Amino acid sequence: MSILVFANTAKNEVHKSAYEVVSYGSQLAQKTGDTVTALVIGDATNISSLSDYGADKIIHVKDAKLSSFQPSLLAQAINQIAEAEGSKIIVFSHDLTGKAIAPLVAVGLKAGLVTGAVAIPETENGFIVKKAVFSGKAYAHVKINTDKKVISVNPNAVEKVENKKSANESEATVNLGEARIKVIEQKIESTDIPLTEAEKVVSAGRGLKGPENWGMIEELAKLLGAATACSRPVSDMDWRPHHEHVGQTGIAIRPNLYIAIGISGAIQHLAGVNQSKVIVVINTDPEAPFFKSADYGIVGDAFEVVPKLIEAAKAMNI
Ligand SMILES: Cc1cc2nc3c(=O)[nH]c(=O)nc-3n(C[C@H](O)[C@H](O)[C@H](O)COP(=O)(O)OP(=O)(O)OC[C@H]3O[C@@H](n4cnc5c(N)ncnc54)[C@H](O)[C@@H]3O)c2cc1C
Repeated sequence: MSILVFANTAKNEVHKSAYEVVSYGSQLAQKTGDTVTALVIGDATNISSLSDYGADKIIHVKDAKLSSFQPSLLAQAINQIAEAEGSKIIVFSHDLTGKAIAPLVAVGLKAGLVTGAVAIPETENGFIVKKAVFSGKAYAHVKINTDKKVISVNPNAVEKVENKKSANESEATVNLGEARIKVIEQKIESTDIPLTEAEKVVSAGRGLKGPENWGMIEELAKLLGAATACSRPVSDMDWRPHHEHVGQTGIAIRPNLYIAIGISGAIQHLAGVNQSKVIVVINTDPEAPFFKSADYGIVGDAFEVVPKLIEAAKAMNI
């Protein structure tokens, strides 16, 4: 039997998260004795690369009805492929797409669902999935008792591990109903470094006072080769685009370096960034909660500290 892994794409390429979930499926398959089938929906140029991370088979579905984001149709397509492959375990990334589709797929297949998994399941005494709860403050070990199982894996929770296979690639057709929602407009984010893939992130919050002050944040990010991010109020006020919002209700990231400037460190913000390897906090308030999670802290005014960091980065030719 095969574990079916939904390999998400972005801008016509397989997304980084797809390699993580294929790798996750592959490590799980070694425990269950299954094979791994990666499912790619839509156009993507580099789907063969999924076999480098353990895909034994790659199925490609191209259907005009799936060219815009239609969660119910995507779920129909995935369920049909899962049935055709006889897959009893279906794996997603717990990214925005996975969050929308995994529950629909689970309902369609009458499968038990665990979202936000952070480790390969234990399979010795039942099927037990470790997941983050309470905004990453604790872990729950959830047993799935149903025959079919759907798991979504937190981005950056599991390393992608090379496991080269010579996968068969094939195209499959699906039989889809009518879309229930009409997509009026699609906006492609225009960042140089996608936030979810960034090794370094420079992030700022309400302490920056207004959108006109983001020039120095962008300059520092550019010098460091970092992506930019922000707290939720900042995107809610339209100071920055929504795709930069990190936290419990935004994107969860796990860069090597997270620089938080003028951000208080509310628990909902920390939920999306506290897995970063090194956290640097710049805040005028020495009592700001973020300092408790920081590896390095600067108590100071962002409008004085950031220009000095920019000068230093230029001097060091980073
Ligand atoms: C259900 C729910 C979900 C939420 N999800 C999210 C989420 O996903 N992400 C998120 O970010 N928030 C989220 N929030 C909001 C969260 O609770 C906080 O309100 C928010 O993170 C605060 O944003 P902030 O730190 O930018 O602003 P503030 O709390 O206003 O903090 C600004 C900080 O800047 C400092 N500061 C001021 N001036 C300067 C200066 N010149 N230089 C340096 N520092 C300065 C201040 O000391 C302060 O610590 C959520 C809230 C709820 C209820």
